[in-house]
Amino acid sequence: MPPQIINNLTLIFHGDTKEVLNKPYRNKSLVSYPLNRRASIKDIIESLGVPHTEIGCLLNRTEPLPFTFIPVGREEIHVYPLSPDIPVTSATLLRPTPLVGLHFMVDININKLAHLMRMAGIDTSSIPSESYRVITQAASDRKRILLSRNKDLLKYNQVIFGRLIRSQNPNEQFAEVVKLYALAPHFRPFSRCMLCNAVLVQVEKTDIKHRLEPLTKKHYIVFKECPSCNRLFWRGSHYEKMVKKLETFSPETIDDGLQG
Ligand SMILES: [Zn+2]
Repeated sequence: MPPQIINNLTLIFHGDTKEVLNKPYRNKSLVSYPLNRRASIKDIIESLGVPHTEIGCLLNRTEPLPFTFIPVGREEIHVYPLSPDIPVTSATLLRPTPLVGLHFMVDININKLAHLMRMAGIDTSSIPSESYRVITQAASDRKRILLSRNKDLLKYNQVIFGRLIRSQNPNEQFAEVVKLYALAPHFRPFSRCMLCNAVLVQVEKTDIKHRLEPLTKKHYIVFKECPSCNRLFWRGSHYEKMVKKLETFSPETIDDGLQG
């Protein structure tokens, strides 16, 4: 029997897509892939460790490709990362139906990131489930960008928009997301409940003063309440620290338009 000829596919990984390649390819730019099966380019790249959510653009030399493209061998495919230059609100060949806005969902393993996002006023829901099917379907139905540290979760076809969070440190995770999605102009501190993501409602101090500690009652004027869990929020030292942190991302002073 004549030997079977296997054509190699050349994959060139750009930017931070290299970081998530499986060993032994990790951080290599060029991967020569023996094409011994009929598979979509999405499946091939994911088998090397890079979830499709991490890809901003695919080019066969200079020709843009969809995830469904089936290589026959000898192609030279460039894999480009997500970038703030390709916003999720623009239609692309890879993601023809864009999102209408910047709405996020986190898996429960990175819940501290969710708290930081909500403190900044970014719409970030979480889902109290460990079922991949439940999480991916919810992200798809609710048209949210799924943030996760779990590669397998992000490989699901239902997940159109997502991001594999690289760092294990919540502050670094937050910085990563703010930079990638250019979130600084969307910061609205003191607008969402850190725990439930509900939009806070301003309340009259006279209506809630019986719920305040004496020093809080003395020093603060403006209060907001979460309509979901009824927690009260005010511009205390925790809030001031958050605003300082947000200002490191933004050239302009963060102002929530409130006094007190
Ligand atoms: Zn709440």
